Amino acid sequence: MPIDATLPYDDANIFAKILRGEIPSRNVYEDEYALAFHDINPQAPIHILVIPKGRYVSWEDFSAKASDAEIAGFVRAVGQVARDNRLVEPGYRLLANIGGHGHQEVPHLHVHLFGGRQFYHMLA
Ligand code: C5P
Repeated sequence: MPIDATLPYDDANIFAKILRGEIPSRNVYEDEYALAFHDINPQAPIHILVIPKGRYVSWEDFSAKASDAEIAGFVRAVGQVARDNRLVEPGYRLLANIGGHGHQEVPHLHVHLFGGRQFYHMLA
């Protein structure tokens, strides 16, 4: 079920548990600001999620409340993950689902990187 992205941050969400090491994830990148791991239910040959380490539900939350260092760190981490996974030259898709209409399911901000195949017009 999609979430209401205006709700306060819930420390019991699954990505908070991943950040605390309480449940496993197949990590591909980590630094002070971000963690990246393989999606548990991949929708493409390469499907990686990148999450900021801070407690942000949505893009709105992140853009309004995160420090410049957190925002820069997160954006740079996404770029590093794309480079590390050889997504840049063939191209890839970068996507964030936000709130109900965006069909966001996990209430911790994340972006999806999809790669390893050709994509076509926007998703349904
Ligand atoms: O953007 P949205 O919130 O809909 O996507 C959540 C994503 O988190 C899904 O692609 C799901 O497969 C992934 N997920 C995961 N590991 C979990 C729980 C969810 O990779 N333990």
